[in-house]
Amino acid sequence: MSTTAAHELGHAQGLDDIYSIDLYGGVTPLDQTVTSNWLPKDWTSGPANNGYYQLGLRETDLIKERLIMNGLNRPKSALDIPNGTVYGFHWYTDPITGQYTNSACTNGKVGVDGATNTFDDR
Ligand SMILES: [Zn+2]
Repeated sequence: MSTTAAHELGHAQGLDDIYSIDLYGGVTPLDQTVTSNWLPKDWTSGPANNGYYQLGLRETDLIKERLIMNGLNRPKSALDIPNGTVYGFHWYTDPITGQYTNSACTNGKVGVDGATNTFDDR
């Protein structure tokens, strides 16, 4: 399956796009290394470095090179659907202004626990 088809199936399941940069602000990419707060359900790389994601992985590389829900061009290596949320830029509705914007840099709904729709497999 192409990464684009998998990406669109993610949207059909209720998942959002995620970006390593602010599309409007041109803010510096997320060059910091991944932390447990930024990958709460998939954080397995402790000091022993025995987890799925290698220790020292940069957040920007996680989003651009590994995640199916990357909202920009996806390389062939982008095959991951995490279990939970991932920190990055994503579209959201501001609860105060009601404005739909891309400027949120929080944990986005790009993993299995963010799926709101289910396919009936009968
Ligand atoms: Zn998308």
